[in-house]
Amino acid sequence: MSTPPDTSPNPDDRTEEIDLEALRARYARERDRRIRPDGLAQYRSAAGEFGYYAKDPYTPRTEREPKTDTVEVLVIGGGFGGLLTGARLRQAGVESIRMLDEAGDFGGTWYWNRYPGIHCDIESYSYMPLLEEVGYVPEWRYAPGEEIRRHAIAIAETFGLYRDTLFHTRVTALTWDEQTDEWVVETDRGDRMRARFVITSSGTLTQPKLPGIPGIETFRGHTFHTSRWDYGYTGGDQNGGLEGLADKRVAVVGTGATGVQVIPHVGRDARHLYVFQRTPSTVDVRDNRPTDPEWAASLRPGWQRERMRNFLEIIAGEEVENDLIRDGWTSTARLQRKMITGAVDTSVSPEERERIEELVDARKMNAIRARVDEVVEDPATAELLKPWYRYMCKRPCFSDHYLQTFNRPNVTLVDTADHGGITRMTEDAIVVGETEYPVDCVIFATGFDLGVSGVLSGTMPVRGRGGRELLQAWGMGPRTLHGFYSDGFPNLFHLGALQNANSVNFTHILSEQAEHIAAVIARGRKAGVRAIEPSTEAVDAWIRTVRETAHDTSAFQAECTPGYYNLEGAGLPAGVTYSPGPVAFHRLLADWRENHMHEVLGTEG
Ligand code: NDP
Repeated sequence: MSTPPDTSPNPDDRTEEIDLEALRARYARERDRRIRPDGLAQYRSAAGEFGYYAKDPYTPRTEREPKTDTVEVLVIGGGFGGLLTGARLRQAGVESIRMLDEAGDFGGTWYWNRYPGIHCDIESYSYMPLLEEVGYVPEWRYAPGEEIRRHAIAIAETFGLYRDTLFHTRVTALTWDEQTDEWVVETDRGDRMRARFVITSSGTLTQPKLPGIPGIETFRGHTFHTSRWDYGYTGGDQNGGLEGLADKRVAVVGTGATGVQVIPHVGRDARHLYVFQRTPSTVDVRDNRPTDPEWAASLRPGWQRERMRNFLEIIAGEEVENDLIRDGWTSTARLQRKMITGAVDTSVSPEERERIEELVDARKMNAIRARVDEVVEDPATAELLKPWYRYMCKRPCFSDHYLQTFNRPNVTLVDTADHGGITRMTEDAIVVGETEYPVDCVIFATGFDLGVSGVLSGTMPVRGRGGRELLQAWGMGPRTLHGFYSDGFPNLFHLGALQNANSVNFTHILSEQAEHIAAVIARGRKAGVRAIEPSTEAVDAWIRTVRETAHDTSAFQAECTPGYYNLEGAGLPAGVTYSPGPVAFHRLLADWRENHMHEVLGTEG
């Protein structure tokens, strides 16, 4: 086995001299002028007074009678995590499955996010799960959102998951009934159902957030969040054609991965577009293209698993023979491990490793900044669009249309970095410093609260054995075995990155989780077990393992410009996920399934 051809810049290429000290000083200056004392508190959730920002604009809510029946498995969340679990459970022979979601249909992220230009940044052949099972090959290398949403629906149809599903339904409480060994599931629709097993898969970037801009509530023009796109107002669809904006002055606030995809469309169609930027994104080449039919016809059974594994192994720093994907992610894998952890190259000293990484990073960022100069005609605008931080401080972006948009005469870039963002809003304008920008419409591309599942935020209180509240049991920090389950909370499974694995291709992580959970439940059913639950010792041991193997990324994060990756400068604690990386974690799980699964199957029925 050998490592893939790493197309990231060569650290020993001396043709480009880089003054690392000067670069470090520049990065520090750029970070310092963006750090805000209020950190995460600068944002407001789209809830309460701002709840209308989170309303479902796509599917009308229909009335129904409350449910009081019993199912075998209840899955909370109809995104890819829930769908994959439902599919794997069906394959394991489970008939009684109820899926449940706050949305009006399946799709999760891809249900809510339908803004013009939406595409997945990860190549479709690795990202869209269960392609072979559904019998589908994506039309594009990087799929548009609507194609992904339709695929989610196809998974639900293929595996008969619409059957007992409840949409527009939010779980308000989960209570373990020790008499019957069942969960009592209460919802905001008055349901009081029972389920033997409950699986939570409620996503990590789901709750839209708004900047706490003074006066935001006084704005009288039209306004919405990108994850609830108002096509009734803008016209058009995900491919663009926003003819409703032809006579409008539009503001887009935010230049993250969403802003980068939306802005070319709004720029094309609005009378005038003001882009309010606080920190520029890295914008690398996209190079999207339709799927080659010959290649599609040449695919042999098992191709998707192989491709997903290849992608994951490269990103996680494992040795592979070939890079099947060859794109902006696989060529920067070494840089990504600054934030998304994985195997560490131990053939060099830590100091040498850091030297190489910093040089590779500087060369990559220089190339990203050089591209801005190549594309953007106005030098002052180009200067403002250059990102000054290390590659993984923020989510890398890819576009062949974004930078070009700033060459349009109807597009103005307004940099807000020196003001910590937009200064205030009035009835009809956005104000930065003392300058007013009158606008008809404000579109917030300002992202999502990080990792707020109902379990962790407390909006879905969970009471386990003896009425013990889960958040109380987790008072000293999350307590799980492998991220999946907790002592005292039998037959309850969680999907997500917490104390589990992480990768940019998160559907792969979810896919492994779904297979694991389905395997455990299938074995428990076969053995007639009433309660699947890890012991306190097993949970303690896993917490110790996660802590002891944690890579400390705090020094890297502290030097980063603020954003959700480093909790707005506060820094993510070490050991949120399993640091040795997803490939090591999946090996560990496979071994556990083989040799230790019986340990959670304590109580025979
Ligand atoms: P982000 O949180 O990444 O970006 C929010 C943007 O809003 C930032 O540019 C931020 O600036 C800006 N902002 C926040 N407050 C203010 C303010 N007061 N004034 C001006 N600007 C402000 O959200 P996104 O929705 O862009 O992306 C979230 C995540 O969703 C991505 O990181 C990615 O994981 C995922 N995603 C994935 C896509 C894919 O293709 N797979 C596509 C889109 C999103 P600053 O940076 O200074 O904080």
